[in-house]
Amino acid sequence: MLQVIEPATETVLEQIPRAGAAEADAAVARAKAAHPGWRAIAPADRAKLLYELADLVESALDELALLEARNAGKPITDARGEMGMVLDTFRYYAGAPERMLGDTIPVGGGQAFTVREPLGVVALITPWNFPLTIAAWKMAPALAAGNTIVLKPAELTPLTALRFERLASEVLPPGVVNVVAGPGSTVGSRLVAHPDVAKVAFTGSTSVGRAIAASAAHTIKRVTLELGGKSANVIFADADLERAAAAAPTAVFGNAGQDCCARSRILVQRSAVERFMALLEPHVRAIVVGDPLDEDTQMGPLISASQRDAVASFVPAGAPVAFQGSVPCGPGYWFAPTVLYPVDRGARAVTEEIFGPVAVVIPFEDEAEAIEIANDTIYGLSGSVWTENGARALRVARAMETGVLSINTNTSVRVATPFGGFKQSGVGRELGPHALDAYSEVKSIYYATEG
Ligand code: NAP
Ligand code: MG
Repeated sequence: MLQVIEPATETVLEQIPRAGAAEADAAVARAKAAHPGWRAIAPADRAKLLYELADLVESALDELALLEARNAGKPITDARGEMGMVLDTFRYYAGAPERMLGDTIPVGGGQAFTVREPLGVVALITPWNFPLTIAAWKMAPALAAGNTIVLKPAELTPLTALRFERLASEVLPPGVVNVVAGPGSTVGSRLVAHPDVAKVAFTGSTSVGRAIAASAAHTIKRVTLELGGKSANVIFADADLERAAAAAPTAVFGNAGQDCCARSRILVQRSAVERFMALLEPHVRAIVVGDPLDEDTQMGPLISASQRDAVASFVPAGAPVAFQGSVPCGPGYWFAPTVLYPVDRGARAVTEEIFGPVAVVIPFEDEAEAIEIANDTIYGLSGSVWTENGARALRVARAMETGVLSINTNTSVRVATPFGGFKQSGVGRELGPHALDAYSEVKSIYYATEG
């Protein structure tokens, strides 16, 4: 059995059967059997079923939010927001079956045109930090494009995915949505190697992403990867410093820092560092860390003891802690929001993804140095630029090597806009119209009209 832990209490939330390779094979077989029927449903009818699924998700939003808050240890207000995005994602892609458009192409002797075909069975492998949200980013476009799916949620947080599977079974044909809750080492690796799986969509660590890409190469599977990050929040002296300082904590301490988009490197123009730090400190100290089910809580615990220990290794005794928030006593995998300054540019906290509530502040002299420091990382997921100089904002935004970038805000994830990484932050895009390309193949058809 799999013991699912509640990280705020360190107690067992639920016990569920632990799947293995055999269950993964059975799920692929069900998805394969269901595929011809699912792809044959007329686009408007498939859209109708997906809208019905979205309505069911809407009716279960409170229940899903509570489950996610308890299992992932995230504030209930955040969990409600995330479930809202799950719903928006299903609604956005529900209309897509009728928008899988192709081209007509002028050629001689006939007519050439393209259509988009589904891939078949796709495997979706997801992490524990935004369990149902990230699964929805994959499930909704995959289903809309005519694929059937096998979802492997993280073992730490499988509950909302399993609840979703039951919801889906109320409206979709059997075998279209399959959830297999088991370890990455057995279920995950089996799905990646399985000859009947056409594509793997993965979100998680760069190291596992690398292993998945290597394994998937044997069967030439399509692979999209959403991996880690070490994103920069670049603040120029001419920015609205009060707004930038008020926004910076959420950008790195949101979800207790367990966010691939976390702006964990705060780059501040040297002439403004002192003032910025003075503005930032009260915001960090005021973060309410505690019971995820309390409406006032802004930050919950980390997901596990091992995650807490990994984060703690970035803040050893004698680390340059500028200031820290506070945490509750008693059970729970707590770690206080922490700002490190000044830091050595080669320090682990500066170069490695921490995936916890630890930020570093790094001064820069000018635009060129800001860009150089921002890009000095193997990652390239997200980032922000704060300046009142519009031309500079655009120059820096274009020069930063990241898949998503925001100006004078730290928000960069929207259902309608593409999301994904440059460099070792990943391959491919989720969300927006681009995600549909990642779950379909282009077919070119030539119809001879002469000879
Ligand atoms: P992880 O260890 O990479 O795990 C992610 C998923 O992959 C889990 O479901 C895991 O299963 C599974 N898995 C592990 N080994 C596998 C293998 N050999 N073959 C197939 N699947 C395998 O990541 P995590 O610890 O859950 O999450 C933290 C990391 O994810 C961070 O580094 C973070 O940056 C990254 N992340 C990135 C994004 C993004 O959108 N770019 C979003 C969230 C997280 P089990 O854990 O159940 O065994
Ligand atoms: Mg892991």
